Amino acid sequence: RGTGQFFVGGNWKCNGTKQQVAQLLEQLNKGKVDSSIEVVIAPTFIHLPHVLDTADSRFEVGAQNCWSSGTGAYTGEISAEQLADLGVKWVILGHSERRSLLKESNEFVGEKTAYALSHGLRVIACIGETLEQRESGQMYNILDAQLEALANQISDFDNVVIAYEPVWAIGTGKVATPDQAEEVHLHIREWFTERIGEKDAEALRIVYGGSVNEKNAAELAAKEDVDGFLVGGASLKADAFVTICNAHT
Ligand code: PEP
Repeated sequence: RGTGQFFVGGNWKCNGTKQQVAQLLEQLNKGKVDSSIEVVIAPTFIHLPHVLDTADSRFEVGAQNCWSSGTGAYTGEISAEQLADLGVKWVILGHSERRSLLKESNEFVGEKTAYALSHGLRVIACIGETLEQRESGQMYNILDAQLEALANQISDFDNVVIAYEPVWAIGTGKVATPDQAEEVHLHIREWFTERIGEKDAEALRIVYGGSVNEKNAAELAAKEDVDGFLVGGASLKADAFVTICNAHT
């Protein structure tokens, strides 16, 4: 079972105008999120400065990606140093949209994770299987390979949250059942128990992502190895997001 602080991340993806972001923040800042929950919101890069300036201290701020090494001749990229310099504390890496649309490999995600951690960022590292992989019995091989690529590059997972996000559940409205989520989270916990020992594996937050909303969050949060959520669509609605954050209390 997980012993870490319940964690909820809001992945805003490529959404929002300046005005929409300001409005969402205004509503979030009025929301009552229980003090026992760690909450991170992740806007686009261009909205980060505004969110850092405006979000209530209740909310930590994350980016949705960063480059695999330092500053330099990497057109269009943003480095971990630059995020840290801005005051960003977290970064989401290995999101399935980047793995599929931008062909990010397990190894590349591992490299980025190691680099970001070594520059003081905390990482929400995403893994997940497609429906085809699940139905053909490949699920655990796929997930283990994604974890292996992380563990090849880092040994200390203190500043990592693992987000289990089945690809078939992301943005589809098709949520994993609490039992499906628990089964995979337990597998991930056991995988880490072998790697980093029982105590650290229990403290590691393993969060679920994939069509989490204000209605299904409490049932998922009740599972022993579900230590929180990574929320996409519903994180753009302040009321829904606050309800999800409080689902564990
Ligand atoms: C996500 O993109 O991390 C995600 C879980 O999206 P959604 O909640 O919209 O399925």
